[in-house]
Formats: sequence, structure tokens, C-alpha cells
Amino acid sequence: MTSVIVVRGVRPLGGDARDLVIADGTIAAVAPAGGGERTGVVAEAAAGSADGTRPAPLVVDATGLVALPGLVDLHTHLREPGREDAETVDSGTRAAALGGYTTVFAMANTDPVADTAGVVEQVWRLGQDAGHCDVRPVGAVTRGLAGERLAELGAMASSAAAVRMFSDDGHCVSDALLMRRALEYVKAFDGVIAQHAEEPRLTAGAQMNEGAMAARLGLPGWPAVAEEAIIARDALLTGHVGSRLHICHVSTAGSVELIRWAKAKGWRVTAEVTPHHLLLTEELVASYDPVYKVNPPLRTEADTEALRAGLADGTIDCVATDHAPHASEDKETEWAAARPGMLGLETALSIVIQTMVETGRLDWAGVADRMALAPARIGAVADTPRDPASFAQVGAPATLTLLDPEARRVIDPLAVASRSSNTPYGGRTLPGAIRATFLRGRPTVLDGKII
Ligand SMILES: [Zn+2]
Repeated sequence: MTSVIVVRGVRPLGGDARDLVIADGTIAAVAPAGGGERTGVVAEAAAGSADGTRPAPLVVDATGLVALPGLVDLHTHLREPGREDAETVDSGTRAAALGGYTTVFAMANTDPVADTAGVVEQVWRLGQDAGHCDVRPVGAVTRGLAGERLAELGAMASSAAAVRMFSDDGHCVSDALLMRRALEYVKAFDGVIAQHAEEPRLTAGAQMNEGAMAARLGLPGWPAVAEEAIIARDALLTGHVGSRLHICHVSTAGSVELIRWAKAKGWRVTAEVTPHHLLLTEELVASYDPVYKVNPPLRTEADTEALRAGLADGTIDCVATDHAPHASEDKETEWAAARPGMLGLETALSIVIQTMVETGRLDWAGVADRMALAPARIGAVADTPRDPASFAQVGAPATLTLLDPEARRVIDPLAVASRSSNTPYGGRTLPGAIRATFLRGRPTVLDGKII
């Protein structure tokens, strides 16, 4: 028996209200809201069949909700295997689905490191077993993230996990020759190297953004040039070898300028920005609350402004969360000892609404591009919609999320789905709330709750 779902009154990309019929994992019919009764398509689906051969469908009242394509996160730390006390594939992907995500890319800095076919297949299978969203493992670039020898990139690419993105995230591939070799290697299968751009010699001991605030607080600084020097070098390298480079968590105005330059050259460079770098600034460090410690660090107001402008004009291709759960003993300690990183999956869309939609920089089609289509293209996700509108057309895979843009919610760190509680938004009131998420026609979230 086929399960049928009728979504009533939803506004795809904030446009006119529609009734959608979801059957066999795809959008089976679309009609003007309420008009389905007249055309019969939606009414027929909603009625089920009298003889019981077709069950009564699930009817979702989505009046006033905006539909977006299922979100894709290129940068998630799921912590399994190795730190299941901080997060698991199951808990992290619950958080993802509740945040509107249908695909997450799981970073390789687990224990053991995801640097072999065996480990990436393990993470991929854990994602399938959990079933909350698709998990695409990111393979390590170098063995053990040690930055000395290339990992088994080809074996990971041809494994069941079909890895296409590789990153030593948490560490920079700082050796230029290794970076060149990695870029050359992934050309064979159109893979991409995602670089954590941080020249390690310039950030040894760093605790926050370098500048006047660091001087005032007496904390060693992490200079913008440490990020920008690597971006410039790697853009030149990828232009030279004709490969694909993705820049993780861009955090400075100078980095935006460099990426604009690299794209103008025609080089295949893409970039992401985190929600926290769009909103939060280094002033928060004055509280010495380690929840604001993150790598790269929170920067200045001028940087957030440049990042918002870069995301709006497409210089920065997408938003990625850098969701980084940490157990309380690693995070709730004095500033210098605390691990860097913040939760992100359950709040990312809200922060993008606050910084980009409510400021008039992006419309809903723009949000769909920066949070779903662009990251799906970069990560080579199958079934990527051709354009922002096509996700809600007949025949498209029913992979979408329903959002109440008028909702306001107060973030309670102890009430998140993640196993950790290190959200920097605790106590803040954020706009927007996910009401439902569908993965190929199957609800993963309904009424704002995990299924
Ligand atoms: Zn990183």
C-alpha cells in the first residue's frame, strides 16, 4: 500500500498557497490551495478509497507555512565514532531534521579518523540506520589528519559511501605540496577539497580574533591573515591544477575579497559561511563565556557585514553550520582550556532569516539556493533541484521542509536535540520555526517534533 500525504495551503518559496500531494516519495500533484477540491486531484488523494485498498492519507495543514527544498549542510561534526558522549549520528541527525536539513556532510575528525573506506562506510551506514536525514561522510585528506601523507582518497570515493568531499577540518592542510597532490587526485572523480584555512604558524596559541579587543582582554590573537594567506595560496593552486576547492567557514572581509578575485579568474573555488559568523562578533568574548569560543574566531562588525554582502551577491556560495557539539567537561571550563565550537543545526535557518531575510538581503529563493541547492551542487548530492522553484513541482523528489516564518522561539540549551548544549543562542529569541521535514516523501519531522 502506498502512503499518501496531502500538504494543504503551503507557500513554496513564500509564493502563492498550494496544496501538494506526496506519493511514492515524489510530488504527485500540485494545485492552488483549496482549488484541489474542484480539480479533484487533491480531493481524491485526501479521501483515500472506500474499499480500503488505498489508506486515508496523512493531511498536513500548512496554512501560512513556507516550503523550502530540504536543507543541505556541508559541514557537520557528528562525533561518532569516538565521542558519542558529545553527539552521535542519531542525535546529530535528529538535530539536523529539526533544523530543516535532509542531507548533512559529516566531518572526518572522529576517533578513529574517517580516513579509510571502512570508517566512511561505518558513518554512512549509521546515517542510514538512524534515518533522520542522508549522511554523506567527508573523508580526511591526510592520514590521521596528521598533514603528512595523503589518505586513501580513491578507496573512499569508490566505497559504498561514495565520498566526494575531503577535508582535514579542524586542521589546515598547510603543506602546499600535499594540498596540490590532493587537488590533483580528486580531479579523477570530480571531488572537492574543503580547506580549513588557517596557517598554523600564525595561530599558535591563539584564543580569539587578533585586534584591539584581544589586546584589551589579554588573549593571544588569531589574525585574519592566517586565513587569507591560505585562501590565496589554495586559490592559486586550484587554478594551476584545474581542480575544485571549497573554503570552509570564511570569517573575514579580506577572505571575501580573495574569493571574489579567484572566481573572477574562472577558478573552481566555492565557499561557505557559518550562521555564527553572520551574526556574532568578538565583543561577546569579553564575557569570557567559552560558549563563544570557536575556530575561526568571532570577528568584527565589519567582517560580519562583508560576509553578509558576500553571501547575498553569491561570492560566498552557501551557509554551512560547522555544528560542533562538545561535552560539558570540554566546554564549560575556563576560556583558555575550552574546546572551540558551537552547535548550529537547529538554529541555522533562524540566524539566516535574522541576518539575511529580515534585512532584505535574500528572499526565500535566495535562501533555498544558499542553504540547499548550492551546497548540494558543491557536495555532488544526487537529485539536486535544477532551480529553486523546481523542488515543489510534479515529479520532484518530495524532499522539503516547512517553516513558520512568523514564529518566534526562545532557545533553551537544555532542550535541544543534540547531546551537547553549547549553543551560543541560549536565551535569545530567534525568528522562524521548522514545522515539518520530508525526506523523499517520508516525514522526518511533523508538528515540530522528530518522527
Ligand atoms: Zn574548521
